[in-house]
Amino acid sequence: MASSTHDPVAIAQALVRCRSVTPAEAGALAYIGDLLARAGFEVHRQKFSSPGMPEIDNLFAKIGIGRPHLVFAGHTDVVPAGEEARWTHPPFGGDIAGGALYGRGAVDMKGAIACFAAAALDYLSAHGGRPKGAISLMITGDEEGPAVNGTAKLLKWAAERGEKFSHAIVGEPTSVKRVGDTLKIGRRGSLSATLTVAGTQGHVAYPQDAENPLRPLLAMLAALSNQPFDKGSKEFQRSNLEVTSIDVGNPAFNVIAAEAQARFNVRFNDKHTSASLKKLIGRRLKAAAKGARYRTDYEPASESYLTKRGPFVDLVIKAIREVAGVKAALSTSGGTSDARFIKKYCPVIDLGLVGRTMHQIDEHAPVENLRALTAIYGRILANYFK
Ligand SMILES: [Zn+2]
Repeated sequence: MASSTHDPVAIAQALVRCRSVTPAEAGALAYIGDLLARAGFEVHRQKFSSPGMPEIDNLFAKIGIGRPHLVFAGHTDVVPAGEEARWTHPPFGGDIAGGALYGRGAVDMKGAIACFAAAALDYLSAHGGRPKGAISLMITGDEEGPAVNGTAKLLKWAAERGEKFSHAIVGEPTSVKRVGDTLKIGRRGSLSATLTVAGTQGHVAYPQDAENPLRPLLAMLAALSNQPFDKGSKEFQRSNLEVTSIDVGNPAFNVIAAEAQARFNVRFNDKHTSASLKKLIGRRLKAAAKGARYRTDYEPASESYLTKRGPFVDLVIKAIREVAGVKAALSTSGGTSDARFIKKYCPVIDLGLVGRTMHQIDEHAPVENLRALTAIYGRILANYFK
């Protein structure tokens, strides 16, 4: 293996020290941009905004031309630190202690950005400064937020400039125990809704003069959750609906409420799209409502993605085996990622650090894990551009 000249630990440390709590940029993209520009990358900073949402800073950096074109994607925004006094090491200090880098984003996912930046720079140093094809880094500040003015718009902007991507790797934490033991070839979609049922307020002793909205609401929720939407698919577990809240806001024992609300979320597999699922939910609700007056308000949905097993996935698995000696498991579990936007442009996978401490107090990444992931990304680059 070529000796590492770019230190992923130092890069990760510098990134953690930027207080880029979503949606703040806080110097994180500037730092990565400078690092890449010095190695010859063409660096673009794109800001996107939309009504009622914060303006978001994003970065697109590319070196080389033509195909194949490999994209590393990620986000420098992080979730808030929570109570900073409860951290053993300050959340934006970038301390290294007991062989691990501490700080918000060490795992999710400034650590992985440092790893793919270091791997790309090392690859270029060892191969005359340019790939046989192109390498891009696509980094957003809007993954932990609404994800409206980030990767989705950056992809569209890049496509309008004529960029064509061959494959993409998102550096979200996917590993379970050892770096590389698990990668995601797909993720479920997510659909949330608020169901509001109208009734007629009245005295519980005179129900003939009232209409209790809870009766149909409970029947409708039962119709949604008692029967699965599918049996699962080849690569995915079955779709799952969870009722997350039922709200009436009625403090009285002797009053029938005028309105009742429930919220639910569905994590769905590749047998559905958010549109087909809404139809299915609509039919079940209508049948259970038995004429009750109700309304379903959906939040913006995330679609699922699935990258079929094939040469690209095999190349990644092989690189992990060669470098880390681990047989990678292919997973489609867990939450969503920006891969859901990238799937429209090219095949995409998620591969990153061990996720155990992400979003927690004392989030940390063992230094050896940062080095292991850098080596894996480096081998992927070497095999990809061979
Ligand atoms: Zn993340």
